[in-house]
Amino acid sequence: MAERPSNLFAERTRERIKQQACGKLLIDEECYHFTSDDLTDLGEIGRGAFGTVNKMIFKEGKVMAVKRIRSTVDEKEQKQLLMDLEVVMNSNECPYIVQFYGALFKEGDCWICMELMDTSLDKFYKYIYERKQQRIPESILAKITVATVQALNYLKEELSIIHRDVKPSNILLHRRGDIKLCDFGICGKLVDSIAETKDAGCRPYMAPERIDPERAKGYDVRSDVWSLGITLMEVATGLFPYPKWDSVFEQLYQVVKGDPPRLQTSYNGMEFSQEFVDFVNTCLNKDERERPKYGPLLEMPFILRGQRSHTDVAVYVTDILEKMVKDGITEFTTNQPAES
Ligand code: ATP
Ligand code: MG
Repeated sequence: MAERPSNLFAERTRERIKQQACGKLLIDEECYHFTSDDLTDLGEIGRGAFGTVNKMIFKEGKVMAVKRIRSTVDEKEQKQLLMDLEVVMNSNECPYIVQFYGALFKEGDCWICMELMDTSLDKFYKYIYERKQQRIPESILAKITVATVQALNYLKEELSIIHRDVKPSNILLHRRGDIKLCDFGICGKLVDSIAETKDAGCRPYMAPERIDPERAKGYDVRSDVWSLGITLMEVATGLFPYPKWDSVFEQLYQVVKGDPPRLQTSYNGMEFSQEFVDFVNTCLNKDERERPKYGPLLEMPFILRGQRSHTDVAVYVTDILEKMVKDGITEFTTNQPAES
C-alpha cells in the first residue's frame, strides 16, 4: 500500500531535522560527522549577549570551545553559512585567527566548534588594571596590535571577510603566547541577523559612520580600524575611553557629534610612546575617509616595532594566568581532563 502523504511529509521533516542537527568537524585534517551527542560538556567558559561558550570534549578526545548562539536564519541561509564556514575551516595559514572546527544547527541554536584558548583580552586587562593595579607593558600591546591587524588583513585579503565586531572580548590569548581574533564569519552573521530582528542596544565599539543614520552605507574595513583604536585605548589605559552611556541616543550624540577619544604621551598618570599614541589616534580619526586601511597601518612605526621585538608573550601571559588562577578569577581552560 502506498504511504499516506502526511506520513511521507512527517518522515521527510524528521529526516531534514536529523540532517540539520548533524555537522562536519575538521580536526587536524581528519573529517568527522558529528551531532551534539558526540560532545561532552566540561563547563561554561563565558557568556555573551547572544549566547554561551562552553568547554567541551569531542568523543575522539579533542577538547574545544563550543559557542552556542541563537539562530534566526532560515534553512537556505544555514546552508550558506555552513559553506562559508568550510572556507574558514580549510584555511589555517594565519596564526592570528582562531581555528574553526565545524558547526551544526540544532533546535534553533547554532553550535560553533573552535579552538580553545585560555582567556580573552577583556578579562585579562581588567584583572591586571583593576585587581593588580598594574599595566600591560607596551611591548605586549605591540604584539597584540600586530596580531590583530594581521588577522584583520588576512580575513579581508584572503577570505573576503570584514570582522565587524572588533573588541577586547574577541581577542583571545593562550599561554603558549598565541594572540588570536575570534567571532568573525558565521558568528558575526548570526549576531547580525539577531540584531536585525531586535534592537541590539549600544554597540560601544562601533564607528561614527556606522552609528549615524545619515551616513549609513556599506561596511568598510575602516569601521573595524575605529573599533581597533577604541579597543587598544581601552586595554592600554585600563578604561573604556568614553564615559558610560545611559542610552543609544547618548552614544549617538557623543560618538557622532563629539570629539574622538585622543591618547596622549602622558595620559591619566601613565606614559605612552609617541609611536603608540600615533597609532591609536590614527585609528580614531572620526572621518573614515582619512582613516587608513590595513596596508598603511601595517607600515606604521608601532607595528614595525612590534614585529621586530623579541618580547616573550608566552612568559607574560602564563605569569598573569597563573596569578588569575590563584585569585580564583579563571582556570586554565586549555588543561586537558585527566586521563581515565
Ligand atoms: P558579546 O556577546 O558582546 O559579543 P563576548 O564576546 O564576551 O560578548 P561571547 O563571544 O559569547 O561574548 O564569548 C563569551 C566569553 O567566552 C568571551 O568573553 C571569552 O572570554 C570566552 N571565549 C569565547 N570564545 C572562546 C574560545 N575559543 N576559547 C576560550 N574562551 C573563549
Ligand atoms: Mg565574542
